[in-house]
Amino acid sequence: MTDLYKLVDKLEEEKELSLEEWTRLIEGQSSEISEYVFSKARKAREPFYGHEVYVRGLIEISNICRNDCIYCGIRCSNVKVNRYRLTKEEILSCCRSGWEMGFRTFVMQGGEDPYYTDEVLCDIIAAIREEFPECAITLSVGERSKESYRKLKEAGAERYLLRHETANEEHYRMLHPENLSLAVRKECLFNLRELGYQVGAGFMVGAPYQTARHLAEDMIFLKELNPAMVGIGPFIPHHDTPFADMKAGTLEQTIYLLGLIRLMLPKVLLPATTALGTSDPLGREKGMEAGANVVMPNLSPTEVRKDYLLYDNKICVNEEAAENLRSLKARMEAIGYMVVCDRGDSKNMEN
Ligand code: SAM
Repeated sequence: MTDLYKLVDKLEEEKELSLEEWTRLIEGQSSEISEYVFSKARKAREPFYGHEVYVRGLIEISNICRNDCIYCGIRCSNVKVNRYRLTKEEILSCCRSGWEMGFRTFVMQGGEDPYYTDEVLCDIIAAIREEFPECAITLSVGERSKESYRKLKEAGAERYLLRHETANEEHYRMLHPENLSLAVRKECLFNLRELGYQVGAGFMVGAPYQTARHLAEDMIFLKELNPAMVGIGPFIPHHDTPFADMKAGTLEQTIYLLGLIRLMLPKVLLPATTALGTSDPLGREKGMEAGANVVMPNLSPTEVRKDYLLYDNKICVNEEAAENLRSLKARMEAIGYMVVCDRGDSKNMEN
């Protein structure tokens, strides 16, 4: 037990651990050690982000996907999904209402929808850039060539979220169809970083077949990549996927890992994700208290939200964006945090 506390002290001081040490620390999770991690994580966040919470307006642009990731509700072989994609006008209209509410950063997320060629996507990005020059534009539309990432950046995109999902080769195979590979996923991340994007990597906590050692490998990979943002959330089964009967990841392990990531990368942007809010009614608040500093309310039109279901019981599906933001602000204030209307750039940009 004391050994675990020493490992946390070492992580705080040296900002890294060996694979063996990480594995022990992750396996040794308990409520006592978690509290110890959280108090240090809050202290580590303080000089860079204080008690400020950045908000990103999430626009789910399409649920059409050519991929068949086994865990994901919008995988191409799920024939029960009512497929949609937003038009350029619809996306701009989401940005306009987001701007009115105070959002200064928009995240366009979607399946790998072949409709979004470089030309189409660049045109949308350029239109947002022109109308909202002060806003940061973030993309999360999966794997593309380096040339494509370059064009999107030239059109005005500055940030890219692409979770690595798992840094272990064998585990990657268990979660994905054969045509996808960890090597390509990692290459995309390094390409994005090289092109100067603020990059977000991450993984699902409690994904099927995941072990403490896999998570330890995720930590080592994150240290190596040194991204601007790390998105982690619990795995939550979707009833129409082959993982329907798998166990969900826990809130406790997710927030423990959030705290450990904050200690390893003090300046990183760390969202308390929608999946965390889904796994526990106070999930996002607990995420903040464990070291997170970002929330991503949904700006997608309410009509399509029910169709962007990556997992079951997703929260805020019926809530209007403005109401969603109001309630988030109140929730954050209630625990001593303040939502700020700001581009919210990462302070972890040494690459
Ligand atoms: N297609 C893009 C990509 O692959 O990065 C972006 C959309 S993808 C649906 C966004 C993220 O949702 C994935 O990176 C994955 O970690 C998460 N996700 C998918 N299914 C999930 C599930 N059942 N539970 C929790 N998170 C899930």
